Amino acid sequence: MDLQKKRKNLIKHLTAEGFLKTPKIIKAFEEVPREEFVLPSERDYAYADTPQGIGYGQTISAPHMVAIMTELLKPSPYDKVLEVGAGSGYQAAVLSKLVRKVYAMELIPELAEFARANLKKAGCKNVNVIQGDGSRGYPKEAPYDKIIITCACPEIPKPLIKQLKQEGIIEAPVGGTWHQNLIVGTKTREHLKTKNYGGCIFVPLRH
Ligand code: SAH
Repeated sequence: MDLQKKRKNLIKHLTAEGFLKTPKIIKAFEEVPREEFVLPSERDYAYADTPQGIGYGQTISAPHMVAIMTELLKPSPYDKVLEVGAGSGYQAAVLSKLVRKVYAMELIPELAEFARANLKKAGCKNVNVIQGDGSRGYPKEAPYDKIIITCACPEIPKPLIKQLKQEGIIEAPVGGTWHQNLIVGTKTREHLKTKNYGGCIFVPLRH
C-alpha cells in the first residue's frame, strides 16, 4: 500500500475513534507527510498509530496523541504557539497548518536540527525551531496564545504560565517518569484553571 493510502486509512481510524473531530484539524493531518518526520528506516511504518524512536532515546508521539493534543489546544489562525519538545517536528508541523506561528523548542541539538530539516522537507515555513531548555520558555516572543508541552513534567513550569496570555491554553503531560495525566489549563489572572484528560506516557522533560 502506498503512503498516501496509509495516511488516508490512519485518518479514517483516528476520526472513527473520535480522536480527530474538527474538519480543519483533519485537513491538517491530511496535509502533513508523517513519513518525513520518522527515521528513513521507518518510512513504511509512518502511518502506524504508535510512537516511534527518532534517536537519542526520544520518540515521535503516536498519531492519536497528536490528534488529542491538537484538538484540546483549540488552534485558531491568529495564534502564536510555543511547543516544548519539538522532537521530530511533526506536532509543530500539524500546528503550523492551523495557526499563525509556532516556536518549537528542543533541548537536544541534533534533534533540533532533525526537526528543522523535516519541517523544511514538509514545506512548513511558519515554524521556528529553537534549541534550548523549553522549561524556561522563550521570553523573546512571549506572550503566547497557546503552549503545548510534549515531554513529561512533574508540574507545569512556572515560566511557561507566565509567558501565556490571559485566557490562553496550556497543555502538558504532568506526572512521574512512567505515567502522567494530560492536563489542560486556561489562564485567568495569574491562576490556571485545569482539567485532567486522563493517563498518557511521554518521555521526560530534562534540563
Ligand atoms: N512533539 C514531538 C515529540 C516529543 S518527544 C514530535 O512531534 O515528534 C519529547 C522531546 O522533548 C524530545 O525530543 C526531548 O529531547 C525534548 N525535551 C526534553 N526536555 C526538554 C526541554 N527541557 N526543553 C526542550 N525540549 C525538551
